[in-house]
This record gives sequence, C-alpha cells and structure tokens, in this order.
Amino acid sequence: MELEVLFLGTGGSAPTARRGLPAIMVTRGGDRMLFDCGEGTQRQLLRSVGLVDLPEIYVTHFHGDHILGIPGMLKSFALRGREAPLRIYGPRGLDALWRAALGPLVGRLPYQLELIELEPNEELGRDDYAITPFRVDHGGGDAYGYAIVERPRPGRFDEARAIELGVAPGPDFGRLHRGETVPGATGPVSPAGVVGAERPGRKVVLAGDCAPSESTVIAADGADLLVHEASFIREESGRAGETGHSTAAGAAELAARAGVKLLALVHISPRYGGGELRAEAREVFSPTIVPRDLDRVQIPFAERGDPVHVKVEGEAREGPTVAPRLG
Ligand SMILES: [Zn+2]
Ligand SMILES: [Zn+2]
Repeated sequence: MELEVLFLGTGGSAPTARRGLPAIMVTRGGDRMLFDCGEGTQRQLLRSVGLVDLPEIYVTHFHGDHILGIPGMLKSFALRGREAPLRIYGPRGLDALWRAALGPLVGRLPYQLELIELEPNEELGRDDYAITPFRVDHGGGDAYGYAIVERPRPGRFDEARAIELGVAPGPDFGRLHRGETVPGATGPVSPAGVVGAERPGRKVVLAGDCAPSESTVIAADGADLLVHEASFIREESGRAGETGHSTAAGAAELAARAGVKLLALVHISPRYGGGELRAEAREVFSPTIVPRDLDRVQIPFAERGDPVHVKVEGEAREGPTVAPRLG
C-alpha cells in the first residue's frame, strides 16, 4: 500500500517565490490527510494533485502561517458545491479560533464542518493505522506534532508449507494468515511454522513548529520519516531557543537520537536558501533532505527499501537524492 508525503509548502513565517507556507499532505492508500494549511495551500494543491475534497485537516498550532489558508480553501469547496463533510482537528482552542476568526470569514457552508479538539496522545484509530497528536515545545500555547503509525503486519505466509501440511488453498489460507488454526491432512494446522514473524508497519512523524523536545524523540523513535522544522542555523541558536524553534543541527541531533531513517527539514525561513541548512544537518545526520515545494517522499515497507525523495519535475534541482528511486 502506498504511503507518500507531499510537501505543499516548505517555507515558514513568510512565503518566498519558491516556498509556500506550511502544508503537508500524507496519502496512504485512498486516505488523504492535510497537515496545516498555510496561506496559498489551495493553489499548491491545484499545482499538484488538484483541489481534492479533503476529508480531514490537522492543525499543529494556531500561528497565522499555519492556518490562514483554511478560510479560502473552505470557501472554494463551498463555491463548487461540496457536499462531503470536512473535519478539522487541532489542539484545544480550535473552537474559539473558529468562532472568533475563521468562522466569520467563511460564513455559511453547504457541507458539514466538524471541529475536533484533540488531547495530547489521544489516538485516532483507523483500520490498520493510527494518527496520534503529541505535545511539542513551541513557546506558549498548545502546539502538536502528529505521528502516523501503521499497525504491525502479519508475517510472510509460506504457501508451499501450508499445502504440504494439507491445508486447502482458499479461505483457510486467509484464516491461517490471520492467526487462526485450520484443518490439515493429519490434524489441525496452527499458524506457527506457516506464518513468519510479525512485520513492522511504517511510521511518519510531523513535528510541526517546535524546539527539539523529548516528546518528539519518543514519538519519532525508529520512524521511516521525520519531518522537522529548521527555522535557524546553528549561529542563531539563541533566537531559536527564544522563539520555540529549532536549528538545522538541533533537528539533526534529534533525528539521530530517535534513529529515524530519513529527516526532512521544513519551515525554511526566507533568510535561507536551504543548502546551508542541509549542509549543517548532514554533518550530524547524513540522511537529511530539504525538500522543495511539491517534492514528495515515498515510503515503502521496510523489506522493500528506504524512503525515496522524489523531486518535483521541471525545476533545476541541486543536491543528491538520499536513495535511488526504486523501479
Ligand atoms: Zn510557523
Ligand atoms: Zn509557529
């Protein structure tokens, strides 16, 4: 099953000609989740996957650079007669923000809108994965990162061995694979010996705006992809600390401690091009990328290889990809 992260806006605080404000779309199979919706996000969607009727938006915190794209996008959905309901998740204060600011801008909507304030670590269970917000340190106020974690998958099914034991191909194969004991030629056949060890699911962690924090290290433990902000270079670490942001080196140290496979730095300030942040981070943690707007990272299951940085086509690009694109 496909798991992909699309970087719609990789800038922070203010947009530049190259970088839009924060927004990331995670696609898993047929599920699409938008994380943050900075000003201009609907246009970034139009430039990539189209302005799809997203069912869910997750807000990390309520700074303007992360939310000001919401009113315009909701209005566009309304103008074209959207009927499908929309849910917006976020920290405590989401309702108040809607009543005071976003709601009056948007006005009446022809579709149902549900606002859901999440508690830290409140797991949103899906069929075979979960989305869990975790608290991060971004100065005052509630700020969340989000972890998207797949449940472990059943081990590999040894068809030849099952047939040898006299299990009839068909529904019994499925039962055996799911952990049930089924009849065989000389008695019951249990999954042990036919089904291998449970295989890990994938994990993507989006830390939002934050100083490096222990909660992120824990949430990102062993993640396939950590998307972390890098608002400053090391020389500006004082300002990073004062404003609840991270340096590239700080994000890289965190990624190394968490043992992630790939670190993607975002929330790139208009002060930087990106190359200096990447160089600083790679001194500490070499599997680091600084994606540009509309780049993607595809995340295969562990046994099929490492995450792949797919750069947006049609732009002059610099720097090597971290891993070859798989065929
Ligand atoms: Zn921000
Ligand atoms: Zn912020």
